Amino acid sequence: MKYDSIAEIVRLAEESGKNISDLVIEEQALSLETTQEEIFNRMKKALEVMKEAVLEGVDPDKRSASGLTGGSAYKMKKQVDGGRNICGKIFGEAMVKALAVSQTNACMGRIVAAPTAGSCGILPGALLTIMEDRGLDDDTVVKALFTASAFGMVIANNASISGAEGGCQAECGSASAMAAAALVEMCGGSPQMASDACAISLKNILGLVCDPVAGLVEIPCIKRNAMGVANAFVGAELALAGIESAIPADEVILAMKKIGNSMPSALRETAEGGLAATPTGRELCKRVFG
Ligand code: SF4
Repeated sequence: MKYDSIAEIVRLAEESGKNISDLVIEEQALSLETTQEEIFNRMKKALEVMKEAVLEGVDPDKRSASGLTGGSAYKMKKQVDGGRNICGKIFGEAMVKALAVSQTNACMGRIVAAPTAGSCGILPGALLTIMEDRGLDDDTVVKALFTASAFGMVIANNASISGAEGGCQAECGSASAMAAAALVEMCGGSPQMASDACAISLKNILGLVCDPVAGLVEIPCIKRNAMGVANAFVGAELALAGIESAIPADEVILAMKKIGNSMPSALRETAEGGLAATPTGRELCKRVFG
């Protein structure tokens, strides 16, 4: 199996009657010349790192080295635990985890780049939340991570997963799309539904620029992870309801690539445009770097 077409991966899964994750595990074991068990165990370790990153990131006293960020995940958790958040438990829990993992990254803690460090909170936020909500086991989440990786590889091969190349759509957008597809598989949806979820979540985020204040992966990155996980749930929820994407996932990915190519460099991780170039963004930069 090549990772150059989502339509092809869906076709292979549907013809074989297998989940996308099963195909990816088989293919990865073959191409890396190892056993499926070994491949699975490696991903299991990644899941453990994700869980640890959540715990680390909700620490109320943890601040990033720049001093720009810290404490958001804890505040959100208090709101959710107190039953005061307005979006319901699943969205609330998902945002807590996404903020926490992203904060752990800002504090130089250990995370899994999924697909990048900047967007590392979205997959754990989505998958660990639905795991808890539905009482699913670790192995189901590990499998879902393989599904997410297949979608991520197609995006990386046909467009980009780098903010410097394609803007934040390529980082948080890709993570959202990967998480949406993985959520669909975890919830019993078909491979085609996973493809639709990927397409919908990616479409929702097209054009998002990369404009980190002071060039640090903190502002707006941490909050964009909260937005990205919500977007993943939107894509998965719509697809699971049988709502199709009018534009197929492969075409959405190519559209994302073209949009990224037409973005000026000021909006591609150079910290010269967007939020980084606002008066407050520049002031914060001065505060950090003098
Ligand atoms: S704004 Fe840029 S650095 Fe921050 S998460 Fe998005 S792509 Fe990554």
